[in-house]
Amino acid sequence: MQDCIFCKIVSGEIPSRKIYEDKGTIAFLDINPSNPGHTLVVPKKHSKDIVDAEDAEIEKLFLVAKEIVKRLRERLGADGVNVLQNNGRHAGQVVDHIHLHVMPRFSGDSIVISYPRVKLEEKDFDEIQKKLGEERKVPKDWEMDMM
Ligand code: 5GP
Ligand code: ZN
Repeated sequence: MQDCIFCKIVSGEIPSRKIYEDKGTIAFLDINPSNPGHTLVVPKKHSKDIVDAEDAEIEKLFLVAKEIVKRLRERLGADGVNVLQNNGRHAGQVVDHIHLHVMPRFSGDSIVISYPRVKLEEKDFDEIQKKLGEERKVPKDWEMDMM
């Protein structure tokens, strides 16, 4: 995609500090990291978010994130790791090319991941469960896994 920063990183038009690459995926250091080692895992093909991307790309994204988590633990001594993924402006997505943030955590770091909690009545839970639990079309081979 023409004006996409991550597509330009994939093509090499914009330089990046790559730490992993395969046929369909790259991982590079975030230019504005939360901690040393903050990595972005990105499919090479442009998709804007988790729904737009192909299932196989999502699977691969998480498998590469798992590899990066191992490296952050083993090589940078991360005490913990957050894997984050933002969809849409209201969820904090700034770059519209799907990516996972893999963020190492060190004991005593000053990162705060915080969100308020809302108070819901049982009837609210009932309604939300009904809306979200209603049958939907899923891939055929998922049927065995479902409750
Ligand atoms: P988002 O808020 O979309 O989930 O995260 C976008 C991330 O991309 C941000 O953490 C930002 O620092 C990073 N970023 C934006 N532009 C560049 C760039 O040109 N190079 C690199 N390495 N990271 C970038
Ligand atoms: Zn792109």
